[in-house]
Amino acid sequence: MSKFLNAKYQSLKAYVPGEQPQDQKYIKLNTNESPYPPSPRVIEAASKEAVERLRLYGDPECRVLREKLAALYGVGIENVYTANGSDDILNFSFMCFGANGAVFSDITYGFYQVFADLYGIEATIIPLKEDFSIDYKKYLGLNKFIVIANPNAPTGLALSLGEIEEIVQTNPESVVLIDEAYVDFGAESAVELTKKYANLLVTMTFSKSRSLAGARLGFCIGNEELIKDLNLIKYSTNPYNVNSLTQLLGIAALEDNAVYMANCQKIIETREYVISELKKLGFEVTDSKTNFIFAKTNAMSGEKIYQELKKRGILVRHLSGERIKDYNRITIGTAEEMAVFLAKIREIIEVK
Ligand code: PMP
Repeated sequence: MSKFLNAKYQSLKAYVPGEQPQDQKYIKLNTNESPYPPSPRVIEAASKEAVERLRLYGDPECRVLREKLAALYGVGIENVYTANGSDDILNFSFMCFGANGAVFSDITYGFYQVFADLYGIEATIIPLKEDFSIDYKKYLGLNKFIVIANPNAPTGLALSLGEIEEIVQTNPESVVLIDEAYVDFGAESAVELTKKYANLLVTMTFSKSRSLAGARLGFCIGNEELIKDLNLIKYSTNPYNVNSLTQLLGIAALEDNAVYMANCQKIIETREYVISELKKLGFEVTDSKTNFIFAKTNAMSGEKIYQELKKRGILVRHLSGERIKDYNRITIGTAEEMAVFLAKIREIIEVK
């Protein structure tokens, strides 16, 4: 740290992303990317012409991309905002809507606490229940900025739409942000509710179900006034927040939406198979509605399982929080990758 750093950032604890090894040595099941490549239209869109056009600035409004998203989700273009990954939207949302304090659970996406710290926002932390489900009744009538990952990470568990609606309805004086990064893997989306409630913002991403984590493309849907607020910050910081190549790839991905939804279905099937196999081996596994599973065994510590898998060429995510240190979060790869994963797990558990 230099002596020049603004004093208010000196104690900031930054988010630590999962390992991104730059060699191809590992079966990578640690950061919830899709195991499937981008669709044919996306590969085609990454053309020589598109790269040559990088000479120019892209469309700061991302108009075509937003039109496509609006059509897909049945909302108006004025209800859609696009950004450099959904992290970018979370960042701006804390900045815009967090003044009266933020509320999120003790076990959830680690970035929420970082954003709260970054903006000096007081965070009210609501513990998950013993079984890791969200105690949604504790979120009623708080009138603070509420952030819920649905499905939640790293637990994979989802709230029902009825529960979400009650939270949104009973907090009319504050924004409720539902982070739907993983919604395409089996949870109910709250997008329809954005038409009814002016205080609901739903964020989504192309990083998980649409195989574009590296392109950095996130979006959110909400009331026009909320979208204007996000644009105010965007045009006060970085108007060209989605580069022109990524815009083209996003448009092409939406044209191939059926390909991605079929991939999600494959991932769901693989997930259910892996869960049943792990349970046969004595693992406890949560009822995931995401492209990852959250699992522990009494036979070995979570950290040891992580290390033993890594030695055998498989990367998973071990998080060190007190309540979850026995668990690992394991991204669902292809059926072939998961067969290797299960074989290695059997080897590790038997050897001990
Ligand atoms: N929300 C949740 C719950 C996540 O797990 C992630 C991925 N780390 C994100 C948001 C951010 O995803 P991205 O910025 O790639 O859209």
